[in-house]
Amino acid sequence: MSDSDEGRDCIFCKIIRGDIPSTKVYEDDLTYAFNDAHPKARVHVLVVPKKHYADVNELAQADPSLLAHMVSVAQGIADKVYHGNFRMVFNTGEDAGQSVFHVHAHVLTGEKMA
Ligand code: C5P
Repeated sequence: MSDSDEGRDCIFCKIIRGDIPSTKVYEDDLTYAFNDAHPKARVHVLVVPKKHYADVNELAQADPSLLAHMVSVAQGIADKVYHGNFRMVFNTGEDAGQSVFHVHAHVLTGEKMA
């Protein structure tokens, strides 16, 4: 399957293209960040690379600097909304709760977390 075939069916590729609506929090050439449709914290943002990778392991192997960039995007969001504190989660694989196979960082912040 080519990158473009993957992108056609991928829900996050559709969100990045604007084919499915989302509430944008941040965007640059490499990443797109939007509010999770079912938030698990006061602030629950998904940070995704615009290029399609299935999971964080695939991304880390292919483009570690892009993974580092996603961390700095998360930091920038947390700096704005909750004095720089955030939790970052990558569910990786079905048994770990990954339901969308376009790598995404859950960035949870906005309150003190237990
Ligand atoms: O880690 P996981 O793959 O389960 O996370 C997918 C996330 O994408 C969920 O938190 C879900 O609420 C979110 N989602 C969304 N908008 C969609 C589809 C899924 O925010 N249209």
